[in-house]
Amino acid sequence: MEKTLLIIKPDGVQRGLVGEILGRIEKKGFKISAMKLEKISKEKAGIHYAEHAGKGFYSELLEFITSSPSVLAVIEGKNVIDGVRKMAGKTNPLESDLGTIRGDFAVAVSHNVVHTSDGPESSKREIENFFSNEEIQTHILCTEEWTCEA
Ligand code: GDP
Ligand code: MG
Repeated sequence: MEKTLLIIKPDGVQRGLVGEILGRIEKKGFKISAMKLEKISKEKAGIHYAEHAGKGFYSELLEFITSSPSVLAVIEGKNVIDGVRKMAGKTNPLESDLGTIRGDFAVAVSHNVVHTSDGPESSKREIENFFSNEEIQTHILCTEEWTCEA
């Protein structure tokens, strides 16, 4: 089953949005396969955001993502990469539809509450940066019978 990395960024944790965001993920029918609260190190942040190195906002982005604990979670489900990205909304919260996490809870691109992987390669690389295989559960939820095709 497809997996994606969800990060509830420091602003989401500080603002008490963890339960709301995870509630939306669970209610959609996606499964939390791993989860932890962690103050992301500069080293891991650099690996995670390597594609943005050299851009104008890069140092501000690293400063922010390492400033306070984040919730890191591996989310699993059918088409979960696109699904969770749709739930997150556009990078700029002011362009995000209401009903999305960023559209409902954010106004600034620098403080847009969540990160979600943008494709299968980045999902694999991002999950490996933050989780060992042993940390990722393989349980089946009793609700899967009612949310997934046979
Ligand atoms: P995402 O995949 O939707 O998170 O967006 P990107 O991969 O393009 O950018 C990574 C993160 O960098 C975004 O979630 C924003 O928090 C931040 N970011 C992107 N563009 C800008 C910008 O122009 N200014 C600032 N301050 N932050 C930005
Ligand atoms: Mg991105």
